[in-house]
Parts: sequence; C-alpha cells; structure tokens
Amino acid sequence: MTSCIFCKIVAKEMPAKIVYEDDTSVAFLDINPQAPVHILVIPRKHFASAEETEEADAPVIGHLHRVAAKLAQEFKITDGYRIVLNTGRGAGQSVFHFHLHLLGGRIFHWPAG
Ligand code: AMP
Repeated sequence: MTSCIFCKIVAKEMPAKIVYEDDTSVAFLDINPQAPVHILVIPRKHFASAEETEEADAPVIGHLHRVAAKLAQEFKITDGYRIVLNTGRGAGQSVFHFHLHLLGGRIFHWPAG
C-alpha cells in the first residue's frame, strides 16, 4: 500500500531502526517509546488491523508472536513483557498496518489503560 508508512519501512523507502527481519516480518524500534524496550513487529504483507485479517493470515500472526518472544529474549526483558495489539481508533490504533507492540524493561500494571 503506497501511502502506508509501515509499508514504506518494509520497502526500505523510509528509515527505521530495524532489529530483525525475515521473509514474513520486520521488527523495528518504536519512534516514540513507551518503555525502555519498545519494538514494533509487523508483517511484510499489508493488512490494516486485526479486523481485516483472514484465516489465511493466521500463520503470519502466529509468526509475529514468535518473533516478539525471541526478541524479548534477545533484549533481555523476559522478567515480564507485554505484547499489545491496538485495534481501531478507540483502542489507540494510529497506524493502520497490523503491528504488535513488544514492551519491556519496566513494571506494567493491569488492567492496561
Ligand atoms: P498504534 O498507536 O498502536 O497504531 O501504534 C503505532 C506506533 O507506531 C506508535 O507507537 C508510534 O510511535 C509508532 N510509529 C509511528 N511512526 C513510526 C515510525 N516512522 N517509526 C517507528 N515507529 C513509528
């Protein structure tokens, strides 16, 4: 999708601090971190949100979670980390290319705000 900033990061048309990539996914540091470790894990394929996913996307979504878990080990936040999937403006989604937030390095409270 040409107007999508995360598609531009995937295509390397826009800079990002990429910490991991493979055939299916790209992970990079969030530009406005909400925790000492704040990484976005995104699919190369564009889908706007969880609402737009189809059954065929399930392996990709599962893979993104595995990537997040591996990055949690690499960034040494396995004491406690949070994976967040904001879906829709009411939940705070501001970029409409599916992405997992991997947050760690601080205490998290529950329920989330
Ligand atoms: P959300 O609000 O769940 O849609 O999350 C979007 C996230 O993308 C926010 O945490 C932003 O700080 C982050 N973000 C937006 N633009 C960029 C960018 N160019 N590079 C890295 N992170 C970005």
